[in-house]
Order: sequence, then C-alpha cells, then structure tokens
Amino acid sequence: MRILNPATNAPLATVKHDTAATVRNKYRAARAAQGKWAQLPCEQRIDVIRRFRDRIVARREDLARTLTSEVGKPLTQARNELNGVLGRIDFFIEHAAAVLAEKVVLADPAARLEEKISHEPLGVIANISAWNYPYFVGTNVFVPALIAGNSVLYKPSEFATLTGIEIAKMLHASGVPEDVFAPVIGTGEVGADLVKQPVDAIFFTGSYGTGHKIAAAAGKRMIKVQLELGGKDPAYVCDDADIEAAAASLADGAFYNTGQSCCSVERIYVQASIYPRFTAAFVDAVRGFKVGEPLNEATYIGPLTRRAQLTVLRRQVADAKRKGAKVLLGGKPLTRKGNYFAPTVLRDVNHTMEVMREESFGPIIGIQCVTNDAHAVELMNDTAYGLTAAVYAGDKARATNILAQTSSGSAYWNCCDRVSPRLPWAGVGHSGIGVTLSTYGIETFTRTRGWHLRSA
Ligand code: NAD
Repeated sequence: MRILNPATNAPLATVKHDTAATVRNKYRAARAAQGKWAQLPCEQRIDVIRRFRDRIVARREDLARTLTSEVGKPLTQARNELNGVLGRIDFFIEHAAAVLAEKVVLADPAARLEEKISHEPLGVIANISAWNYPYFVGTNVFVPALIAGNSVLYKPSEFATLTGIEIAKMLHASGVPEDVFAPVIGTGEVGADLVKQPVDAIFFTGSYGTGHKIAAAAGKRMIKVQLELGGKDPAYVCDDADIEAAAASLADGAFYNTGQSCCSVERIYVQASIYPRFTAAFVDAVRGFKVGEPLNEATYIGPLTRRAQLTVLRRQVADAKRKGAKVLLGGKPLTRKGNYFAPTVLRDVNHTMEVMREESFGPIIGIQCVTNDAHAVELMNDTAYGLTAAVYAGDKARATNILAQTSSGSAYWNCCDRVSPRLPWAGVGHSGIGVTLSTYGIETFTRTRGWHLRSA
C-alpha cells in the first residue's frame, strides 16, 4: 500500500497490507493470548502503559514529524496532539484500577448475603480508527481496553498507517505482547475483513457512512458495537457575548486541524444585532491564519488529508453560492501542489444549503443570521448529528438554558472544539453510540457482572 504526502502528493513509503488470511491469523493469535494478559494484575498492565507514555515523551518530535508527513497536520498541531495525549493516558493510569476493582454493594451478615460487581474484559476487540487525530482517538480506545485486560486488533486509518505502526512498535517495546495488540494494516476492505472476525466487540471511529455499514455487518452477532462518528457542530453567538473573543475562539474552532476535527465548529448562528460586527471580526481572525507547508512552524492551515474532500468542498461552495450565499473569503482550492483549499467563510447561508447540513470536514464555515434564542435552538437541532453544541453569551443561565434545549454529547459555554479526559465523549443520532473518556470510557471496555453470594 502506497502512502502519499498530502502536502505534495509525493510517495512517502510503501507498506505491506494485511489480507483476509493474515487478519484471520491475527484474530486467532489475539484470542489465544487474551486470557494470559487478563490474568496479570491490573497494576502490571498499567505499568506497561506508563512505559508506553515514556516512549511517546522520548520520541515526541520524530512522531510529530511522521504524523505531519502522512496526514498533513501542521507540525505545531501534531506536537499539540502528542502533548495532549499524555494527559489522557495519565487520566487512565490514575483512574483505571479503581474503576476496574470489584465493588461489594451489599454485605448483610444477618441474611448471610453478599452482592458484588466485577468488571470482566470483553475479550478480543477490533479497534477501527480514523486519521484526523490518530493518537487521541486511538488511545481513547486501546489504552483503557488493554488496561482492562482485552486484546486489541487495531486498524489505523490507511491515511495514518505509519503512525499506527509506530504506536504498535511502542506498545510492544513497552511490554504488550505482540498478539495482544496487533496492528491490522490496509484500507476499508481490510477493515471489513476485521469486522467479519468473531471478535467480542467493535470500537469504531470514523464517518457515519462507514459506521452504518459496520453496525449493519455486526448487527446479528449480539456484540458490543461502539461508534464515534461525524458531526455538524453548531455554535450560537448571543447579543450579550464578547463579540471579538467569540470570533477568535470560533475561528480557531472551525479551522484548527484544517477543519478536520470531529468536533470542528461547522455552523455558526449569530443574533441579528451583532451579525455584521461578528462577521467582520471572524473574517479578520481567519485572515490571520497562515496557510502553508505543514512542516513550517508558522503554518496554521495545511493541506487536506484526503484529496477527495476537495471535491466535496468545491460542491458545497457552488451549491451555497447558487442559493444566495456570499463568499467573504476563499471559496476554491489553492493553485499549488498538494490538497489545499483556501480558508472559506460564507455569510447569508441557510438550511437549504449543503454546507449547513452535510459534514464539511475542511477549512470552510457558514455564518447564518438568527432572530432570537428560540430561532437558534431550532436551527441548531435541525440536523441528524449531535456531537457538540456551543453557545457564546455573557449570561451563564441564558447559555445553559439554550444548551439544555439542544441535543448533543458535549455542551460548551464560551468555548468549543474541546475534549477533556475527565468528561464523557459521546454522540447523539448520526454522531454515534457509546462513550469514551471519563471513568465511563474505562468501564465501557468491560462486561459488568453481578455476583449474588449467599453462605450456607
Ligand atoms: P472513514 O469512515 O472513511 O474511515 C474510518 C476507518 O474505517 C478507516 O480505518 C477505514 O479504513 C475503515 N473502513 C472503511 N470502510 C470500512 C468498512 N466497510 N468496514 C470496516 N472498516 C472500514 O472515516 P475517516 O475519513 O477516517 O475519518 C473522518 C470521520 O471520522 C469524520 O466523519 C469525523 O467526524 C469522524 N471522527 C469522529 C470522531 C469522534 O470522536 N466522534 C473522532 C474522529 C473522527
């Protein structure tokens, strides 16, 4: 399989991909190895993850460069991801033992009855991953899954394969047996082969379209299927917001990682009285973003990882223009090598336009004028997705009241595009099923078992 550099489309490497037969063999080996791994004391598995963390720290710069070369993520943002992932790993290291410990919930000597809950590993899990934050979305799954005693068949995205191979090498060097964490390399076809294996659970991060296929393929097997999917995340700016601060925060939320985050801001609604001032401040903020070669330290917006997305963005702009939107910035691919699309800001958009309905996943945003809070709520909820929703307002009660009426896994007041290891990460509707992160994101890799123990 050829790996291309999205900044130039030049070949970077060729790697051997898996086949149906090698996927099957990896599954069998993972099944055979899982029991012994699960029998280790939890603290030993946590120690292995501590060593994995140390390796990331030691190799941070070269891992960041590998990530940038294959995904096109600006180098400063690749470093941010590697720094950010340490906090997530620390959360799991700190909390896993307590979450996984058995809990006695009733001890009644008179009735000679004890009731307790144990957390059993699920067994062999398939982890099919996305390319946009391979360290974040990968560790959210395989770190707690391994600590909980599962073996993991890890399929990195075909657009982040070199990073996936590095992750596997670091885990093996840290003490995870090769059969307990096996990388499965290839495109969606290899992913589909992995889904066919009799695994005990599937944890998928990616698009709604693929998630839908995986859920359908696994449906009859009565196994756990957890899906972290896309979004069309809305933000609403109220008339009592700090307009310049909101514009700067939302410009970052829409364009960071070249707009390729599951929780990128994808739609902005602004109350009529501040619409002109907000739009001007927003455009100013976006003009300040440097577009360029991702290895350049000053670059904030790089190429799109997937060349095919250029067509989607071009189509969304053409559709919006045809229906009356005004292009304030950008609007087309850049004439240079690589998959570059100019940072694009559209105003006077509405919900008949694809740009306000379909995930854009690129450096493009529509800003729509709304009359009041109720109008904003109606539009924010007019989507099949529900990953995050943000409100910018001076008054906390007003903001939380609006957020309470919206449907999303995460709710933000005066912030956006933010993930915390302490909070559950989840989606509603087409944004997915299940939870990662927080203590719930540790429990999710276990089967909770109830014990009813009565002494004779
Ligand atoms: P994708 O759906 O194209 O691919 C994801 C993975 O699925 C890849 O590893 C791919 O090889 C594999 N795959 C493709 N077809 C398959 C099949 N039929 N069976 C099994 N596996 C298959 O998504 P992507 O382009 O890698 O990622 C971008 C999407 O991911 C966006 O929609 C984004 O919003 C979403 N995402 C969501 C979250 C979240 O936390 N909710 C995080 C990151 C990305």
